[in-house]
Amino acid sequence: MSGQGESGAILTLNAGSSSIKLAIFDVAADGALKAWRRGELREDGAGQRFRLKDAQGGLLADEIWAETRFEASLDHLLARIDTELAGRHLAGIGHRVVHGGAGHRMPEEVTPELLELLGDLAELAPLHVPHNLAPIREIARTRPGIRQVVCFDTAFHRTMPAVATRFALPREFERRGIRRYGFHGLSYEYVSRRLAMLSPRVHGGRVIAAHLGNGASMCALKGGESLDTTMGFTALDGLVMGTRCGALDPGALLHLMRWEGLSIDDTERLLYTRAGLLGLSGISNDMRVLLESTEPAAAEAVDVFVHRIVREAGALASVLGGLDGFVFTAGIGENAPEIRERVCERLGWLGVRLDRAANADGAPVISTPDSGVEVRVIATDEEAMIAEHVRDLPIA
Ligand code: AMP
Repeated sequence: MSGQGESGAILTLNAGSSSIKLAIFDVAADGALKAWRRGELREDGAGQRFRLKDAQGGLLADEIWAETRFEASLDHLLARIDTELAGRHLAGIGHRVVHGGAGHRMPEEVTPELLELLGDLAELAPLHVPHNLAPIREIARTRPGIRQVVCFDTAFHRTMPAVATRFALPREFERRGIRRYGFHGLSYEYVSRRLAMLSPRVHGGRVIAAHLGNGASMCALKGGESLDTTMGFTALDGLVMGTRCGALDPGALLHLMRWEGLSIDDTERLLYTRAGLLGLSGISNDMRVLLESTEPAAAEAVDVFVHRIVREAGALASVLGGLDGFVFTAGIGENAPEIRERVCERLGWLGVRLDRAANADGAPVISTPDSGVEVRVIATDEEAMIAEHVRDLPIA
């Protein structure tokens, strides 16, 4: 791998607790980006499962790697990417970092100083940031010539006004970083840019974007910028998620710890991995499974999921002072017409009129021509957003 220059290929890495998603983009002479490889390395039993697809989604590789040490599997992954690049020039690697804190509001080029600063941020998102940083550190150590760029999931929400970011706590806590940041920023940024191309009038107005995946949140966009969002200090707040609880009365936490004897670690596990759709249904965190299930608890879990979206949509529409557009995105938002229908029906009072046939067909616009709110489905692409940032960030 070589790392100098501007054109060639861009690699994006999105490293989580049990997987690394990757994409390789070709940068054309005019700057246009085209994803020609997408893949994932995921923990699978004793080893790691590596899957790689081409630009059309055709499966190129599906392998089990025996490595159990992260450094070894990352090394193997980078060697594998070298093979894929087949001599193509690598212009840079972009990484998703979940939390940028208050001080990191734009994509930044990785330097040793920055890595040290980011290490301190791990405290804000201990379940995510250390995983995000591990490949950056390893690449900096083993391949120091390669340009690396970090893109923060919180950065897009830098436009939120203080009234939306402040908790009603004594002000010294805000000074220590205890405030609302918001997440899924790369997804919202991508969706906002797509909307600007697809529907400039709506993009210029008041829009709610709903990122409904295993993690779920909603964002109020005014003129394409974040005005408020449902996630806060961590990615635990707001909507019901696959295994995360969403908004929870902090008094319930005090009660659990004081009267039920839950330790901090037990509580963390409960809120992040045993709650949400999984906890409510007792069956699964996967919306597909719940929609197909005949168990009453599955239906009840979906009811709460929809209820909370509708409730938060009302709150965000109030913050925006009305609504011109609504965008569904991510796994559930893009693929579950039943959920979209249930949400849209409950938002009729805001002027939403659903075109049922268009929704069932998975059309890009699913509202009727006379709907007061244009409702769209936009497939998100966080990897493409990261690649755009790597392409556009001036070389330091
Ligand atoms: P994401 O985190 O964006 O990859 O979304 C993952 C979630 O999308 C899964 O947990 C599923 O619950 C959901 N999903 C994907 N496809 C469908 C589908 N066809 N119908 C309902 N939910 C789906």
